[in-house]
Amino acid sequence: MSDSLPFDRYEGGGRRPLGKPRQGDLTARHGYGPHVFAQCGFECVYCGLDMRESFESWLQLSVDHVIPRQMVSRGYPMHLVEDITNLVTCCRACNDFGNRFVVPDAPPATDEAFFDLRDRVFRQRRAAIAIRRKQERAIFEKLPVMGPGRPPPPGENP
Ligand SMILES: [Zn+2]
Repeated sequence: MSDSLPFDRYEGGGRRPLGKPRQGDLTARHGYGPHVFAQCGFECVYCGLDMRESFESWLQLSVDHVIPRQMVSRGYPMHLVEDITNLVTCCRACNDFGNRFVVPDAPPATDEAFFDLRDRVFRQRRAAIAIRRKQERAIFEKLPVMGPGRPPPPGENP
């Protein structure tokens, strides 16, 4: 995957706060998700899964806070952590792989510092998620009932 950042295509290049997503139905698929979805280009920002392809892929849509929400309790500015510029769309698997990521840095003092940190954390998380996917793929490919070498379902002629 290229080194481009999803934020590049955000309004203002993702370098100034755009405000909190619209309140209301706060699910990724019905609420603020579609806006972030359009902003990110309809794909998982980590693995590239196109979530417009089918109903099943759309069900994978989730919204990820790049700087995790739990950082607010460590003094990170809430208005930036919850800002649209800190949100990306990703598939549920990548979201799950990226959970529990703790940012060791002290709270950023300026908006500028926050966006620099967001970009760095995004690259770190994207790399960590890619490793997790590779590990999962290795497991998948060894499972006798999965993958291209799987036996046909019972009752089906080969
Ligand atoms: Zn993904």
